Amino acid sequence: MIRVENLYKTFVMGEVQVHALRGVSFEIADGEFVGIMGKSGSGKSTLLRQLGLIDEPTKGEIFYDDKPTHELSLRERSHFRLTYLGYIFQEFALIPELTALENVMLPGMMKGEKREDYERRATELLEIVDLGDRIHHRPKQLSGGQQQRVAIARSLINTPKVLFADEPTASLDSTSSKIVMETFQKLNKELKQTIILVTHEPDDERYLHKTLWMKDGKLIHHKTAI
Ligand code: ADP
Ligand code: MG
Repeated sequence: MIRVENLYKTFVMGEVQVHALRGVSFEIADGEFVGIMGKSGSGKSTLLRQLGLIDEPTKGEIFYDDKPTHELSLRERSHFRLTYLGYIFQEFALIPELTALENVMLPGMMKGEKREDYERRATELLEIVDLGDRIHHRPKQLSGGQQQRVAIARSLINTPKVLFADEPTASLDSTSSKIVMETFQKLNKELKQTIILVTHEPDDERYLHKTLWMKDGKLIHHKTAI
């Protein structure tokens, strides 16, 4: 479970202060598929980065299973990220010289596990995202939607507790977007994967258990699907 209490983030740029988050509080249960929505500039990416421990809030607290993350040392924080959190970005961020399989294996390799273990797991994950017949393709031999599914498989290699995605379908056409959203839904249903996803697409609400609507750095409503 993630609990967020009164989160503030202020960016200071010379004389100017930007209040990107202004007192945000909520909870996310294990196994939930949660969306963060709102206009451009409303603080969605900033909120996601604080939750994903990529950035540190100016004020307020984030608890993972009642553990206060602000008490972690730098080293504990990066260990926590590597072990428990997975990230997916709008622009896929795959390594062009590596095949789909090698891209997915890479984070496992960095953890120093046995090759046969993470190679088997990477193959299974590519099958889960329906790319079992594309494992030796390089990114440029794949469509945008397929590349994003490779990135999703990669984010799962260390079996994260929580998966974060910032507008993962923003650069895809509507058909590929639908397949990517259905892939997230499948991971959530079948693997009980907790997913927190920023989207600007109101139609995506049908996939979500809960939507956090942001406006000017605040949560304006908190809608739970029935
Ligand atoms: P969204 O993802 O909803 O479009 P962001 O979280 O990216 O919004 O940004 C919220 C506000 O914070 C915006 O006004 C943006 O310009 C500002 N902001 C975001 N990141 C930074 C930064 N690193 N430095 C300064 N201002 C920032
Ligand atoms: Mg954003």
